[in-house]
Amino acid sequence: MRKEEKALIVIFGGTGDLAQRKLYPSLFNLYKRGFLKDNFAVIGTARRPWSDDYYREIIINAVGDAEDINGQATDFASHFYYQSHNVNDTEHYATLKQLADKLDDKYQIGGNRVFYLAMSPSFFGTIAAHLKSQNLKTTTGYNRVIVEKPFGHDYESAMVLNEEIAQAFPEEEVYRIDHYLGKEMVQNIPAIRFGNNIFNALWNNRYISNIQVTLSESLGVEERGGYYDTAGALRDMIQNHTLQIVSLLTMSAPVSFTDTDIRNAKINALKSLRVYKPEEVAQNFVRGQYGPGSDKPGYRQEDMVDADSMTETFVAGKLEVNTMDMAGVPIYVRTGKRMREKATRVDVVFKQVPNNVFGEGDNTLRHDVLHIMIDPEPKLSLQLNSKTIGHSYEYDTNSLNLNYSVPAEQRANIPEAYEKLILDVLQGKASNFASSKELEYSWKFIDSVRQAWDKNIDDMIFPNYSCGSMGPKAADALLEKDGNHWEF
Ligand code: NAD
Repeated sequence: MRKEEKALIVIFGGTGDLAQRKLYPSLFNLYKRGFLKDNFAVIGTARRPWSDDYYREIIINAVGDAEDINGQATDFASHFYYQSHNVNDTEHYATLKQLADKLDDKYQIGGNRVFYLAMSPSFFGTIAAHLKSQNLKTTTGYNRVIVEKPFGHDYESAMVLNEEIAQAFPEEEVYRIDHYLGKEMVQNIPAIRFGNNIFNALWNNRYISNIQVTLSESLGVEERGGYYDTAGALRDMIQNHTLQIVSLLTMSAPVSFTDTDIRNAKINALKSLRVYKPEEVAQNFVRGQYGPGSDKPGYRQEDMVDADSMTETFVAGKLEVNTMDMAGVPIYVRTGKRMREKATRVDVVFKQVPNNVFGEGDNTLRHDVLHIMIDPEPKLSLQLNSKTIGHSYEYDTNSLNLNYSVPAEQRANIPEAYEKLILDVLQGKASNFASSKELEYSWKFIDSVRQAWDKNIDDMIFPNYSCGSMGPKAADALLEKDGNHWEF
């Protein structure tokens, strides 16, 4: 029997795209699975003057159950209330508090509150300060705040944002969401590494040649041009998602699988990232921008993008995590838009056996490679050398495959990243959220690259890769000079 979570969830930005596309469907799934039942309520708040009835119609549409044959979506939506609100107006928080207290009573929630800040981060400080000063935090239950990316645009702004939120919410109440940490195969990385001695024993610089992390997208910037042109791929994808995956791949074994121990292990990995001197950045990082394709606009032709924009839509980099186990293992990362295909994956390339007893010639041994496929199809594949069937002693590369994909009719049973992460918040599990220290070290690293790039912006010629490719040639050369190549 599932334990029902009691909570009042206040969503700032309740009319927005994120709320409608991700948050409401995720909450509905938690409701259908019994994690939310009788003792919960949601207050959506935003600028538009919506009524409760209109808001509930939006919810029913958002959860994709407009027909609502068994009335489940209507029951679910009856727990939703709307409060028109300008985040800068103190009086509105008093009205919000009255409604929150009333719903707490009505649904017997016991004072548990989750504040979801699904709005521009420029509002986070104001909202947090008002939640505290207007007593929206309760003393009877828990108070938790969920904040969305982008969390700052450099080290300094991230620390200011941290400080603003910390005025109202101590670190243990802050859940910085990174939806990649809710993905099934990202969560599988510690299970693979620490649950199997064959990987536990080999996961170090004695046996690993290099690790590759790719987050490629086939789409361009779509309707996000205005934001993207001020951010770029380094801030949008590397600082958060990529470095979080890198920390899971390179951290030492946590003492136990608790929030504190996992976070400490990840913090140490990110703290061990070698921060490059300005002159080292060009040797270790490559940036790119996509040009037009036959039927696709180039980045500079996209809506809301500057016609001379020097914003990067592609990044490849070589990272060093200088711990006792990982020092000397190049960690190559790569992300970009308008690439050949959409994929998120990790390739762990193992060193070859120290001596090829089979001799050289045609019998060249390949590296063993562990492929961790995160998107689009979750899959684990271990590429090995083995003998081909027959009289002769030739060998070939074969793979052991573990397929996590399920038939289409069962897909609804697989929780989506947002759903898992929201449940984590309701249950007070923080390990799949970035801590302030992780943020600190990741921004310090990113700033070192950004600052060197900004100084040398005149040396760049953009666009430098075509739609549908795997990025600029220099991204291949980055590995070739180490005697390596991209597995994907
Ligand atoms: P959006 O523009 O669709 O929604 C913004 C919301 O904020 C709206 O509900 C709007 O009414 C409200 N709002 C704006 N100014 C306000 C004010 N002064 N007072 C009260 N309400 C105000 O944005 P979104 O796409 O939903 O994104 C929200 C946040 O989530 C952003 O920080 C974004 O970067 C982040 N995010 C979004 C996505 C996504 O898929 N949409 C993914 C990851 C992160």
